[in-house]
Amino acid sequence: MIGCSCVVCTSPDKKDKRLRSSILVQSKTTTIVVDTTPDFRYQMLRANVKHLDAVVFTHPHKDHIAGLDDIRAYNFFSHKPMEIFANALTEEALRREFIYVFSENKYPGLPKVNLNTIEAEPFVVGDIPVIPIEVYHLKMPVLGFRFGKFTYITDANRIDENERQKIKGSKVLVINALRKEEHISHFTLNESVALVQELNIPAAYFTHMSHQIGKHEEVNKILPDNLQLAWDGLTLEF
Ligand SMILES: [Zn+2]
Ligand SMILES: [Zn+2]
Ligand SMILES: [Zn+2]
Repeated sequence: MIGCSCVVCTSPDKKDKRLRSSILVQSKTTTIVVDTTPDFRYQMLRANVKHLDAVVFTHPHKDHIAGLDDIRAYNFFSHKPMEIFANALTEEALRREFIYVFSENKYPGLPKVNLNTIEAEPFVVGDIPVIPIEVYHLKMPVLGFRFGKFTYITDANRIDENERQKIKGSKVLVINALRKEEHISHFTLNESVALVQELNIPAAYFTHMSHQIGKHEEVNKILPDNLQLAWDGLTLEF
């Protein structure tokens, strides 16, 4: 956090250097990013992502959409608009916050997008089937996504029973855990641990942690081996 000198913010451990939450999902032919964070440009440079087929959005909060402008580099190389998948709530925010992208008067160099409005129905990007899972961030509906045996859920603090069924059978779940203390719109570490155990998921990584959660190494020591904090650059193969 800007201006903070706590043990996490001053830690020399690379795993304590956390950018905003996002994932890259890749098959042999298709590459998707879930959310364009304010760190999107640096995240794509760091991971050396040369080609991107689509962006799938979870919800309209700024820490999940702010980086959209930088998809223009992919437009430049692919000579086509970026496929964007968002629910109506996120679409409204994208149109408002990136008004120049959607305006009639387009000038050269603007990001180009092709907006696909999604709801709870499964959809396919290239050869990757995607199952949306609707979760709640206080009162805001947020989309989690299941890709085969992998499920990604961020910014949730409530998941209803029918949506929990969609997560069951995942081999790995990535789910938000903001900190140890209660929060109005995010699961705490204990709540996320309990959820993973209740759903019987064999392995989970926590994401969207605040610096308040403590150092990566120390938090992982108190967690079971199969439930650990995620870190920037973590790669999983299925
Ligand atoms: Zn701090
Ligand atoms: Zn949020
Ligand atoms: Zn967030």
